[in-house]
Amino acid sequence: MTDNPSQYVRERATGGRKDLRYPPAPEPLTVPVYDNHAHLEIVDGDDPLTLAEQLDRAEAVGILGVVQASGDVESSRWAVAAASADPRVLAAVAIHPNDAPVYAEAGRLDEAIAIIDELAAHPRVRAIGETGLDFFRTGPEGRDAQFASFEAHIALTKKHGIAMQIHDRDAHDEVLETLARVGAPEKTVFHCFSGDDVMARTCADAGYHLSFAGNVTFKNAQNLRDALKVTPLDRILVETDAPFLTPTPLRGRPNAPYLVPITMRFMASELDMPVDELANRIAENTLRVYGSFTD
Ligand SMILES: [Zn+2]
Repeated sequence: MTDNPSQYVRERATGGRKDLRYPPAPEPLTVPVYDNHAHLEIVDGDDPLTLAEQLDRAEAVGILGVVQASGDVESSRWAVAAASADPRVLAAVAIHPNDAPVYAEAGRLDEAIAIIDELAAHPRVRAIGETGLDFFRTGPEGRDAQFASFEAHIALTKKHGIAMQIHDRDAHDEVLETLARVGAPEKTVFHCFSGDDVMARTCADAGYHLSFAGNVTFKNAQNLRDALKVTPLDRILVETDAPFLTPTPLRGRPNAPYLVPITMRFMASELDMPVDELANRIAENTLRVYGSFTD
């Protein structure tokens, strides 16, 4: 199993990071793309960036927009506010699979999902996410709540006719089974894809999109590079999952959408294709899945 955001939270909490300065900007992309999954509300680094600074830095290197992902009621509200305030942001709203058992424990899961339903009606909300299953951080006692929440989020996605961003950690089979059993939304994205080439083929055959994050550059992530190579070009997306999953060689430092060019160049070289060509395809895919940022 490869690295995953929640593991990074743990590493950070244990003080595993040394250099907390935001890294210098990479060479701009000549063909722009979008970061389809980031958490810009999380304050990180020695010198935290404001939302506007994040978006300005991203735009300066050819990252024209960011889909702001959410995990609870508060972050979902934040995402809607950010997407309403700046045309470079679209929102995804959801209760995260690791938060679902916490809400359920407090007897508030239904109420929280009802709020997500309300927020999802906003025209700048273009995805339900992140939702899914996480058997790494949540034990067996929380799984009923996770499954119930995941299925409720799938229903919301269909109701609102938007995309869905899936968080899948150590639960590949169960995520795929759930989607097959209840019927996947038309636009289903595996955020921070964490499977291998076999799973990538299964997802592509089912019409799902695979979003690759900075961990595709990690030395121990050969499974992600194998997956990338078998993913059809009309199914590939790119993301940061910022502030997590900073690409090599900047691991440990805060991640941000303006670092996407590093991951893009790495992916293009793995695919043995010009970065401009890959960027064209990814930009097209992003707009097809989430719609226009300027509408
Ligand atoms: Zn995320």
